[in-house]
Amino acid sequence: MSTRPDQSATAEGVSIAGAPPPLAAKEVSVVYRTRGDFGRRTARHALNRTSIEVNYGELVALVGESGSGKSTLSKVLLDLASPSAGEVAYHGKALNTLTRTEMRAYRNEVQVVFQDPAASLNPRQRIWKCLASVLELRGVRSQLELNEEITKLLTGVGLNPAESFARRFPHELSGGQQQRVAIARALAMKPRIVIADEPLSALDVSVQAQVLDLMIDHQKRTNAGYLLVTHDLNVVRAVADRVVVMYLGSVVEMGDAEQIFERPQHPYTRALLSSRLSIDASKRRIRDRPILTGDVPSTTAIPSGCAYHPRCPIAVERCSIDAPEPRVTGDGSSVACHLAE
Ligand code: SF4
Repeated sequence: MSTRPDQSATAEGVSIAGAPPPLAAKEVSVVYRTRGDFGRRTARHALNRTSIEVNYGELVALVGESGSGKSTLSKVLLDLASPSAGEVAYHGKALNTLTRTEMRAYRNEVQVVFQDPAASLNPRQRIWKCLASVLELRGVRSQLELNEEITKLLTGVGLNPAESFARRFPHELSGGQQQRVAIARALAMKPRIVIADEPLSALDVSVQAQVLDLMIDHQKRTNAGYLLVTHDLNVVRAVADRVVVMYLGSVVEMGDAEQIFERPQHPYTRALLSSRLSIDASKRRIRDRPILTGDVPSTTAIPSGCAYHPRCPIAVERCSIDAPEPRVTGDGSSVACHLAE
């Protein structure tokens, strides 16, 4: 059952009614302009007026097919990509208006775990140095303290004996061990928000559950907010408090995880979930659910009206003309569909 907090929180992680969420994207659009064939300029609409918030104590899952804008949204929230319109706010303040001290607090508080641990670790740095350089940013300076903290971090992510792992280079570790180091590095800053962008997809199936457990354990222990970007709906079902469904750069449905899985309202969400459930179709009541057909259109040629209309089995004439605005339905979910209840 969802445990989504109904309040936002202060920087100390204590809920205060009415406070702005610690991290939010507000109506964010990202357009990349490139030169196509014959030098023709094309615009790629990676995000289209997307809003999302992450609160302390909740695990939000961001789902959608490839090209839906999940990773771009993560980058915008991490200040690794700039919005063409809209803003990202940290405790209610737009990132580009933060003072130097506030920006430092944002960079400390919001940490990331990337998909490919090998690419995110410096191959020439021993694990000790990799973690020490992060701890030094937090003001940990003495050799003794650094050794203690690094031992604690490595032990905490299950890399024992810590001293042995601290001496190694990334290439001397397996993929699962590298991802544990990447998580340890993120946790070294004592983050209150963690953005995990497909953190399991580069790992062997045998270690995925262990790495996921590690993050869930941290989230529960510290009451941190997590944004988990993933295409694995079984993982989402198991761990998420709230689910945000994206299609072609827009949020099409967002709500409590249990409601989304039990009563999905947007046709795209229903089709996406049916692709997950079809593996045990004989046992489930899903035969009446639509199947996801066709390919995702290019972000350089987003269909008019509702972007999903060329694939939608229940589209009506209006769908190709008017873009549906997200609206809150009876169960509290937000759905962008003309025909949603
Ligand atoms: Fe389908 Fe129309 Fe709803 Fe879009 S607005 S999801 S095309 S019914």
